[in-house]
Parts: sequence; C-alpha cells; structure tokens
Amino acid sequence: MSRVECPLEQETLAMVQSGRWPHGCDEASRAHIEACNLCGDVVRVAVLVSNDYQATLRTARVPNSGLIWWRMQRRTRQEAARTASRMITIVQAIAVAAGVAVAIGIITATSRAFSFAPSDLSQTIVAQWGIPLLITLAAWLALAPVAVYLAVGKD
Ligand SMILES: [Zn+2]
Repeated sequence: MSRVECPLEQETLAMVQSGRWPHGCDEASRAHIEACNLCGDVVRVAVLVSNDYQATLRTARVPNSGLIWWRMQRRTRQEAARTASRMITIVQAIAVAAGVAVAIGIITATSRAFSFAPSDLSQTIVAQWGIPLLITLAAWLALAPVAVYLAVGKD
C-alpha cells in the first residue's frame, strides 16, 4: 500500500480557500499542482466547495436589524408574561390553600362551639357571625386572585 501524502497539501488547500488560486499563486505552486495528483485533486474539490460557499453567501437572506430587534422584544415580552403568569398561578394556589385552611378552622371552631359548649351565648355568637364570616371568606377567596392580578399587572 502506497502512502498518498504531499507536504504541500495544506498549503494548496489554504491557497484555494483564501482565493489565491489560480491567479494569485506563484509559478512554482502552479507547476507543483499541475504535476502532483494529490494537490490537483485537492484543488478540484476545494474549488467546488469554495464556489458553493461563495454562492451561498451571495444568496443568503439576512433579515434586517429592525426585524431582529422586534422579534427580540416580542420574545422578551412573551417570556415576561409567562413568568408573571406562573407567579400568579403560584399566588392563587397559596391563597386558595390558605382560604381552605381558614374555612376548615372556622367550621371546626363552630362545630366545637355547637357540640361542646352548647351555651346560649356561644350558639348566639355562631348563629349571628358564622354565616357572615363564611360569606366574607368566600368573597375574599373570589377576589384574592383579582387583587393579585392587579398588583402584579402594574409591573
Ligand atoms: Zn502536492
């Protein structure tokens, strides 16, 4: 098996890539490339690749800077909206959990008042304030997400 190597192969490739082939190279390089099979092949392939690269550069459509700026601004706004939406969902979940805990506490307290201390005073207090407390709690649960939305929406 014969070794196919040429010490000038990389130099020949660099010459084609830099655009010095065929008009910008010296006579010695030109004579070597015509005589050397490997460098001749390198030149033929590298010229094709270089021509294709140059054609791609000429036909590439690069969007203008205004369009890129607008897309970047739109993406930034969408990411900010996504982050705010995530935060609103977390706050709503916390508010609902807190409301449920308070409701359970109120129900437990009122049921204890009915079952363990059936005095007239506690029954009167629960009868007078139990329903308004539950209505207030329900209103708070309904309005808390709106308040959180308004508070976060001002940013
Ligand atoms: Zn060669």
